[in-house]
Amino acid sequence: MLPPYPADLSAAAQQSLEKLGVEVRTKSLVTDIDGDNVTIKSGDKIEKTQACTVIWAAGVKASPLGKALSEKTGAELDRIGRVIVESDLSVPGYPNLYIAGDLAHYIPEGEERPLPGTAAVAMQQGSYLAKAIKRKLAKKTVPAFKYKDQGSMAVIGRNEAVANLNFMKLSGFPAWFIWIFVHIYYLIEFDNKLLVLMQWGWQYFTSQRGARLITGDDTIPALSAEVMASMETETELVALDDESKDLVEA
Ligand SMILES: Cc1cc2nc3c(=O)[nH]c(=O)nc-3n(C[C@H](O)[C@H](O)[C@H](O)COP(=O)(O)OP(=O)(O)OC[C@H]3O[C@@H](n4cnc5c(N)ncnc54)[C@H](O)[C@@H]3O)c2cc1C
Repeated sequence: MLPPYPADLSAAAQQSLEKLGVEVRTKSLVTDIDGDNVTIKSGDKIEKTQACTVIWAAGVKASPLGKALSEKTGAELDRIGRVIVESDLSVPGYPNLYIAGDLAHYIPEGEERPLPGTAAVAMQQGSYLAKAIKRKLAKKTVPAFKYKDQGSMAVIGRNEAVANLNFMKLSGFPAWFIWIFVHIYYLIEFDNKLLVLMQWGWQYFTSQRGARLITGDDTIPALSAEVMASMETETELVALDDESKDLVEA
């Protein structure tokens, strides 16, 4: 449960989930899902559980832009499709082509694992790149990107979260409150902060939340196959229609 967190916070997260009625199973692998069953392997034991609705939330795949870039530049991708970048976040062999955030696979010096796909990493890489590009234009040397770990937080439910702030560990309501504060603080522009604060306040006090459901019903024009196909083409055009195209082709 939340492997990057200290053991006591992982245990607190598990307890919070159990309080919500979730049955937590660790050291278990899902090996198959068919229309009616989920097959789970725990050690040597293989078990089938009947389920007509299965929600898979284990892991995220990188944007297809990574594959397009890899095909054009020969850059190596990791297992989830992130581009393995240099220490200044450039694509190997393309010093003017940079990747920041979720699409970048970056292992800090002396570490073994790449940085996680979180907003904190993306924000620090974004501001690093702005400075790095300025330095490059001024013909100055560019130091390698260094991630400053300011801690991590995970929200579990209403009034339930865990926070590892490096100097302090919190769980339950205090962690949840800090999670809310930090997320609103980092939103850009005052209007956005106010709007999100009002929406979250409304949801908190009324226990009502807006849900956007994708039901597979094609009567919604934006989800029709034609629109989806045109969106894919647009994405490809956007991906190849800017300065990167020249760089990639060069
Ligand atoms: C459900 C969910 C919850 C999360 N919760 C947290 C959390 O609590 N804390 C945390 O730190 N992180 C969280 N994350 C992760 C965090 O959102 C990401 O790490 C962060 O947004 C990465 O920023 P980014 O700029 O790299 O990518 P994004 O924020 O995804 O921005 C990429 C943008 O590029 C656009 N784009 C994609 N392809 C193209 C293209 N070909 N042409 C033009 N534009 C394109 C996309 O539409 C998007 O707007 C969460 C992620 C998810 C999905």
